Amino acid sequence: MSVTEPAERSAEEASSRFAREWNWRPRRPVELSPLFVWPVRPLGVVKWFAASWFALTERLVILLLAFATWFYLQPALVRCVSFEIGWIAQMYARNLGLMLLVAGGLHLYLYTFGKQGRRRKYDGRDLVENHRGFTFRSQVLDNMFWTLASGVTVWTGFEVLLMWGYANGYVPYLTWQEHPVWFVLLFFAIPIWGSFHFYWIHRLLHWPPLYRLAHALHHRNTNIGPWSGMSMHPIEHVLYLSTGLVHWVVASHPVHFLFHMQVKALEAVSSHSGYECLLVKDRNAMRLGDFFHQMHHRYFECNYGTLEMPWDAWFGSFHDGTDAANERIRERRRQLKAQS
Ligand SMILES: [Zn+2]
Ligand SMILES: [Zn+2]
Repeated sequence: MSVTEPAERSAEEASSRFAREWNWRPRRPVELSPLFVWPVRPLGVVKWFAASWFALTERLVILLLAFATWFYLQPALVRCVSFEIGWIAQMYARNLGLMLLVAGGLHLYLYTFGKQGRRRKYDGRDLVENHRGFTFRSQVLDNMFWTLASGVTVWTGFEVLLMWGYANGYVPYLTWQEHPVWFVLLFFAIPIWGSFHFYWIHRLLHWPPLYRLAHALHHRNTNIGPWSGMSMHPIEHVLYLSTGLVHWVVASHPVHFLFHMQVKALEAVSSHSGYECLLVKDRNAMRLGDFFHQMHHRYFECNYGTLEMPWDAWFGSFHDGTDAANERIRERRRQLKAQS
């Protein structure tokens, strides 16, 4: 489908302060997964999973990448029985390469070369240069530094630990031959588990002492780009990627675990890209961004979770992108401020 410029804003939209804060907004209200809506809407659930998994999405790409990693880029498990520099360095170099390819590639395409201008870009502002709030006074250099120095290191650290666990039989191993149905279902379950884990970890990170110590670094970015997704304090990297520790108790194949870690590390990059989708020759080539989380960076006290589970709707912090929700969230902020 060819993409045209957004239609002219309606009079109601033009008068809304909230609307003026955005260059482009997706269809509203932003939809949460129908999996947890009662009564169950089977067709809605099927459509949701089809849109996340069977269209050309970053998730499908990462699924293929996880298999390619396992077959071609993962040191054999027999080598991982003891910690040795060779196989660990190989995994570190691989993850460094993947991050440079995905975050660097998206940044070059969308920002350096501006291949699609501001079309489908949520926030009309440019990334910040020459500001002392950022390491090296540059948002991009700051984000690259924390992503590459801390993010890739912690990501690789979790993978090294688990591969050592699989190799030694400490981590329960699931095979396709013995449990083919569970083998497939686990891929669908991982993002749901990840959403549950992320919501609670993220709420914890907004606890003022931990926010000041760690999470404020990620929130330097009120406007975000691909390098912002994994730009976190090392404490946040450890908490964020601790979602993978579930594999110590739930049986899985290493390819599930690689997928889990790559979803966390690389989907964060695309979801922070600042663009709804990648346009190639005016065509929608792939969905990228996440307006739901983009609003968290702009307004803080909303959308702590992800679209996969409705924690924010259950706890009153859901901003669905409408003017009415914006008023509600502003009121919530006023109340939280008054309490503190
Ligand atoms: Zn936050
Ligand atoms: Zn973020």
